[in-house]
Amino acid sequence: MDVLSLYLHIPFCRHRCAYCDFNTYAGMENLIADYVTALIAELGCAAAGLPPNARVHTLFLGGGTPSLLPLSEVSRLLSAVRDGFPLTSGAEITLEANPGTLSREYLRGLRSLGVNRLSLGMQSASPEDLRILERGHDFFDVVQAVKWARQAGFGNLNLDLIFGLPYQSLASWQRTLELALDLRPDHLSLYHLTLEHGTPMNSWVQRGLLPAADSDLAAEMYEWAMARLEKAGFEQYEISNWARRSADGRLLACQHNLQYWHNLPYLGLGAGAHGFAAGCRTVNVRGPQAYINRCRNGAARPFPRTPATVHLTPIDRATEMAETMMMGLRLVQEGVPDRAFRQRFGVSIEAAFPQEIHELRTQGLVEWSQGRLRLTARGKMFGNRVFMRFV
Ligand code: SF4
Repeated sequence: MDVLSLYLHIPFCRHRCAYCDFNTYAGMENLIADYVTALIAELGCAAAGLPPNARVHTLFLGGGTPSLLPLSEVSRLLSAVRDGFPLTSGAEITLEANPGTLSREYLRGLRSLGVNRLSLGMQSASPEDLRILERGHDFFDVVQAVKWARQAGFGNLNLDLIFGLPYQSLASWQRTLELALDLRPDHLSLYHLTLEHGTPMNSWVQRGLLPAADSDLAAEMYEWAMARLEKAGFEQYEISNWARRSADGRLLACQHNLQYWHNLPYLGLGAGAHGFAAGCRTVNVRGPQAYINRCRNGAARPFPRTPATVHLTPIDRATEMAETMMMGLRLVQEGVPDRAFRQRFGVSIEAAFPQEIHELRTQGLVEWSQGRLRLTARGKMFGNRVFMRFV
């Protein structure tokens, strides 16, 4: 193991949005201090077993709503990370924030603690969309948050948007994207709404209280966004992600998520977090109180296990090859370079997946470009069909 990433899950939200199926809980903020103490204990266990040459180049505080953590708790967490893990110089440190939870002072505080990338859940500029999603903020909160973040010195700022919502028209989506562009973000993540089993929104659609998504309209929204963002100077580097280049020519892609898409190791710590390290996938216990109890009472375990681990699955070579294809093909420019694949697995992509590659190429979904296998324009529209071929 050489360079790895660190994900810390913060499973608290003020309110559970209607479409959300993340491992997050409303009304449990009273647990925050104990939870951070538990997370620090888990960090300590993981750090103790870290291979000697390991370095951490990205840290991501995701949720949930990490911006519900008071600055003092963010500070405790970041100190524990710095104490236990060798961070590379210039490591990317991202915090996900809900626009309705921020203040100018809070953002200044985050920046002074070393957080250098902010990801804001804007989702939409339309009050109707935000109401349907049950988001606890409006577009004005986003405008203010972006202004304060820039004033605080954040030079790397992402906005998350959702399209394909019930009642959302193409014109409304276009207005949302134009307003997002007016805020001059460095990075945009555009997610197609998926109705997840067990969410209120899914049950409203099942019961006919909300219209089902119009997949043709959603495809039109996606295609329009691809063209518009290209015109605005953004580069699409992943199916749902776009970045602009910095003044020195660097693409401001999310380095943390690239670690996932390159199928490289990361530790996932916190309630319900998933990780991939030392050739194993790990899953932590989901409930915040159970997580606190386990970390409070647990003894150290062999790396990458921690007291919070409930599943550990060794990944064999065939699975790792398939996962490398599934995730790497999401990178629409880079794709999966055959040379890197050979270096990692000692076999070419065509030799590892002769039937799959033949079929997908015949269907016009993937292509070879300068030694890389990547999605075609058509493949981008039917990504899931491609990824499923490697399951
Ligand atoms: S703020 Fe995000 S994590 Fe929290 S409930 Fe809403 S969608 Fe889920």
